[in-house]
Amino acid sequence: MSEDTVFSRIVDGRIPADIVYRDDLVTAFRDVAPQAPTHVVVVPNQPIPTAADVAPGDEPTLGRMFTAAAQVARELGIAETGFRLIVNCKEDGGQEVYHLHMHLVGGRHLGRMLPGPASA
Ligand code: AMP
Repeated sequence: MSEDTVFSRIVDGRIPADIVYRDDLVTAFRDVAPQAPTHVVVVPNQPIPTAADVAPGDEPTLGRMFTAAAQVARELGIAETGFRLIVNCKEDGGQEVYHLHMHLVGGRHLGRMLPGPASA
């Protein structure tokens, strides 16, 4: 079974989450601490620790993460206005949960991609 991250426990049903999409490769659920009116996390059912660990064999799952995100965006009514997909990686990327995940955020104008200049 999956390694024991909080997201693995959600995928396995061991802890509750507001699941909005699930298939054989990925699961999507509402972020517990939303940073926008719509904030969903899309995760592979089989954990990959970080974006630095992906391998060619993961490509079907990685592609499914995008198609699942697009479907969820349509179903939650943000596909027309737009959204942002974010993958944080390791310490400098601000990753907190070491189970690869894509944030789907939208429902308001999100502003610039990053705060501050490159040197900050
Ligand atoms: P990251 O900083 O990219 O690793 O993002 C981790 C995200 O997981 C954060 O936005 C958290 O709010 C979210 N999160 C942590 N625990 C849970 C949970 N039990 N259910 C839903 N989202 C969670």
